Parts: sequence; C-alpha cells; structure tokens
Amino acid sequence: MSQFTYTANPSRVIFGSGTLSQIATEVSTQGFTAAMILCTPYQVDDARRIEHLLGAKASHIFSEATMHTPTSITEKALAIVENKKVDCLVSIGGGSTTGLGKAISIRTGIYHICIPTTYAGSEMTSILGQTSQGLKTTIKDPRVLPGTVIYDVDLTKTLPAGLSATSGINAIAHAAEALYAPDSNPIIRLIAREGIRALAEALPDIMKDQESHDARYKALYGAWLCGMCLGSTTMSLHHKLCHTLGGSFDLPHAETHTILLPHTLAYNCPAAPTLDAELAELLPGGYSSGIEGLNRLLDQLNVKRALKDFWFNEDDIDRAASIAMENQYANPRKVEREKICELLRRAWAGEPAR
Ligand code: NAD
Repeated sequence: MSQFTYTANPSRVIFGSGTLSQIATEVSTQGFTAAMILCTPYQVDDARRIEHLLGAKASHIFSEATMHTPTSITEKALAIVENKKVDCLVSIGGGSTTGLGKAISIRTGIYHICIPTTYAGSEMTSILGQTSQGLKTTIKDPRVLPGTVIYDVDLTKTLPAGLSATSGINAIAHAAEALYAPDSNPIIRLIAREGIRALAEALPDIMKDQESHDARYKALYGAWLCGMCLGSTTMSLHHKLCHTLGGSFDLPHAETHTILLPHTLAYNCPAAPTLDAELAELLPGGYSSGIEGLNRLLDQLNVKRALKDFWFNEDDIDRAASIAMENQYANPRKVEREKICELLRRAWAGEPAR
C-alpha cells in the first residue's frame, strides 16, 4: 500500500433517533446562553421546537435562510446577532440553512451547532458558497466547519420523497467522486463505499414509505459518510459541472446532481478502471456495470432525467462548457471541450449516459 495522508473531521457528531432532545444539554454544557436558531420559512415549526427545548437560552429565530447563501441575508442576520448578543448558532435544515450558519460563524467566530435535515452533506465540509450581486464565490476554511452536528433521523421523515431521492443521489455523487479523487486514501474509500451502499439500499425503500424508520436511518447515516467524502477530498468533473449549472444558470442543486451523475461517471470510467465494477458491487440489482446499476436506481426513484425539464436551454450548452473549462482541475480523464458539450447535450435531452 502506498503512502497517504488522512485528516480527520474534528466536528462532534451526535447521531440517532430523537437526538434533537439533546440540544439544550449541548448548548448548556458549552456554556452558551443566547442561541440564534436559523431555518428557511418552510421549517419554522422545527425552529420553534428548538426554541421550546432551549427555553431561556433561545434568543431569536431567523427564518430567512435562502439557496446559495446571499450575502444580503447574512448581513441581515449579522445585525441581529450583534443586537441580541448571540453567542451560539443552531441551524436546522438543508444545505441552504447550513450555509447561512457557516457564513455567520466564519464572520463572527460564533459556535455553530448544525442539525441537517437533507442529505446534502454541507455540515461535514469546510466549504462555503456565497452569492453577491449574482456572482457565486466559494471559500474553503477550517473555521467554516460546524462545531457540533446533530443528526436526528426523525427530522428527515418530512423530507418529501422526490427531494429525498435527489438529495440522496447528491450525496452518492460526493462518495463516487471520492473513489477516484487525487487525494483519496483507503480510509475515505471505505467511508465512500459504505455511504454509497447505505444510500442506494435506503432510497428505494423511502420511495415506498416516506416515514420508514429503518430506511431513513440508513439514508441519513449514508449521507453523513458521503458528506465526509466531500469534506475530505477534491471533487472533479461532476461537481465542477453541477457548480457551473447551479451558479451560472440557476439550476436546482440536488436535481442537477441527479441528472448529471450517470453522464459524468460514464465519462470518467475509461480513465478510472475500477470505478464501474466497484459501483456495480455497491449498487443494488447485481448489474455487471455500475453505470447500468445507477441508471436502474434512478428509474426506480422516478426522478427527472433531462436538464431541459428544468428550463436549461440547448443554446446554453456551449457557454456552460466554456465556464466549466475556465480553470483546470483534477479529473481522471482529460476534460475535452467537444466531449463535455456532447455530455451536456445528452444530459439536456435526457438520453442514456454513454
Ligand atoms: P435546501 O437546503 O435548499 O432545502 C430545500 C428545501 O427543503 C428548503 O425549503 C428546506 O427548508 C426544505 N427542507 C429541508 N429539510 C426538510 C425536511 N426534513 N422536511 C421538509 N422540508 C425540508 O436544499 P439542499 O439540497 O439540502 O441544499 C442545497 C444548497 O446547499 C445549495 O445552495 C448548495 O450549494 C449547498 N451545499 C453546500 C455544500 C457545501 O459543502 N458547502 C454541500 C452541499 C450543498
């Protein structure tokens, strides 16, 4: 085995069912007295539950978390942080809410307790994407990482089946790219394999029963592991294309990951010789090809398969390829413009990956 470096994620993780009830102890034992609770307008009920659990230690609910972390919203929240002398942040929600918690935390140094309720995995990364005047920028800084992450399986049962499917595939994408990342290592590969297997088993069961406890448990566990892969390795073509389509064309995050994944992995298979077989072993159905296994999984999940379904124009393919090729990045297979245009065209049309 060759030499490798593994850096452990320092966050404290509480995982299980009903773990939200530990929030008051978590805030108290760390000595905090004024927590601001962050959420989107759709998860105010969850935030109110936390407010109730925290009692006098809850200072304020800020319910304006927004996709892509606009700095105007962060600044609004920061004014309240100062005004109310907030000493702790509790974010509850998906990647958008986690992003707001990270954005406040990096500017103030305030401790961030993150309660993820989707499978996006942002809570395990030191990456923060923000938008200002229509421009999306990304920073990577260890201080962005939440201090404590509370995974409560029960909170994910309200995530609609469709969003669970795309969010779960978003998570699988992190682990799939970690399998061939230039800075991958045997520990991360173990985590990636376990994460893919858990999610691929759980997602079809969630489609049948959105509140299945076992499936939700397995999916959130898998999402945690996949998030660790995202936070520990360098992502390649797949994440680069999704970032371009989300950042420059406003395509929805998890849905875009879901459409592109078979295409980007199929593109990389010739240069990542073990990838197809490894995926085939991890995905259900016993297919001899991993790409085939992934396609069948997506069929089972009944997700949209074409970028044109999200109003992405065929005319924009060329510009998207140009943006995605602006900066060099690590990828197993050489990224060639014409081939990327063809990949995007197939994904736009909803044709099978090749
Ligand atoms: P999201 O956070 O935008 O959530 C989508 C919607 O689902 C929101 O309205 C939210 O309130 C609702 N929701 C979340 N959990 C729910 C639940 N359990 N029940 C009912 N409704 C629920 O979506 P997302 O896909 O989790 O996150 C996408 C954002 O996260 C993007 O902006 C993306 O760039 C970012 N992201 C960042 C990183 C990172 O490492 N920085 C990683 C992944 C995603």
